[in-house]
Amino acid sequence: MGGRVLSVASECVPLVKTGGLADVVGALPSALAATGWEMKVLLPAYRTLRAQAANWPVVWQEADLWGGPGRVLAGDVEGVPILLLDAPHHYDRDGGPYSSPTAEHPDNAVRFAALSWVAAGIAREGLDGWKPDVLHAHDWQAGFAPAYLAYHGNGGVKSVLTVHNIAFQGWAPAHMLGVLRLPGHAFHPEALEYYGGISSLKAGLVTSDWITTVSPTYAAELMRPEFGMGLQGVIAARGPVVSGILNGVDTGIWDPAAEEPAFGPKSMAGKAAARAALCAEFALDVPGPLAIVVSRLTDQKGIDLLPAVVPDFILGGGGLIVLGSGDPGLEAAVRNLAARFPGRVAVRIGYDEAMSHRLFAGADAVLVPSRFEPCGLTQMYGLRYGTLPVVSLVGGLADTVIGASPAALAAGVATGVTFHPVDAMAFGRAMAQLLDLYRQPKLWAKLRTNAMAQPVGWEASAAAYASLYERLTA
Ligand code: ADP
Repeated sequence: MGGRVLSVASECVPLVKTGGLADVVGALPSALAATGWEMKVLLPAYRTLRAQAANWPVVWQEADLWGGPGRVLAGDVEGVPILLLDAPHHYDRDGGPYSSPTAEHPDNAVRFAALSWVAAGIAREGLDGWKPDVLHAHDWQAGFAPAYLAYHGNGGVKSVLTVHNIAFQGWAPAHMLGVLRLPGHAFHPEALEYYGGISSLKAGLVTSDWITTVSPTYAAELMRPEFGMGLQGVIAARGPVVSGILNGVDTGIWDPAAEEPAFGPKSMAGKAAARAALCAEFALDVPGPLAIVVSRLTDQKGIDLLPAVVPDFILGGGGLIVLGSGDPGLEAAVRNLAARFPGRVAVRIGYDEAMSHRLFAGADAVLVPSRFEPCGLTQMYGLRYGTLPVVSLVGGLADTVIGASPAALAAGVATGVTFHPVDAMAFGRAMAQLLDLYRQPKLWAKLRTNAMAQPVGWEASAAAYASLYERLTA
């Protein structure tokens, strides 16, 4: 049992991060270690990463990586085995992974084809003494890697593609097919062709041995037009090899016992103190449940629904703190709520990790009314901190929160409040239910205990990935 996996991605915590993809890629190698699966992560050597790899040994060379040579340097970052693809003509640039300080790089298709090409090469041939059993590609940036295995020989390696965000699909014009080292015979709708061009995500979806996404519900949703963003038919056609594996959260970082004041399922006094401190920090006086939103302020996250539901919640005794930034119109809308309800609603526009910990520790509920949510993390922080999640029934939210329905209450298993469809009416009813639950201290305590007992760490996810690798290589 066990084996070797080459993970290939454009982001990995703690080296480079623009979104949740980086958290997953960075967490998996250590989480998998206990399962007997050894994972190395291949990443581009962006300008910001080159200095720390200066003394790493070269373990792979590539003479022609679209305009220059490339080499792979091997090292270790906080216990995670890292392979950095050093190809300065592609990656030694100003700005983030995908863009210069002013605009998206026009050659991203080739930049990430290069990463995928090297990943396929290493997977196929192996490094000196290290031959992978599985190539695990993440999102559009690594989508060509399974395709290169499929069209240039796979060396006995199985491939997995994980979709973290279907919205980004890696498009290139049709005339690039040969340049991208893809075969002309595969340029048809059942294979590489996508709306007249080429999509690296679609290429990965049609050529990988298995497809995962970051929650079981999102896996099913992706086969429907409302969520699939054009790729629903492609994913549905591959239905038998599609599955959802929930992300975990870092329970070392998100740990109520490590907060100040500390608390836990058996000693909630610290949480009460954290609530009092939070109300003092934000000058709030809230007789009912204190809710928080910690989020990008976008329509995806359902933030536009807040103005319709918050007034009744406030009338019912509730309070709200919003921490986030994003759409200027939504920032203005939540600011306006704070102006209308001083002492009950507070808003901080910005990104502040330390503050987010204080919010989860001190609040009674966290609101996540997303229109779509591949996995979602904040509802899991809420569970762990006994900060009851109020969530729409989409994606990973539906898979992680058990709503306080009569049946769930009777069975004693509820962990939060859920609603559907994603509109102000259903969200408003959920907020009314939250007020109602809060008025029943015994029931509230039971929900909190249930929530805090939910496993939200990486163990279950790692076990699911390990068993997928086992099945593929059996
Ligand atoms: P998404 O990746 O779609 O934004 P997730 O729930 O998967 O949503 O992850 C969002 C992460 O970013 C969480 O860790 C959340 O706590 C954090 N976050 C979002 N906005 C802020 C903010 N303004 N300040 C601090 N942390 C934030």
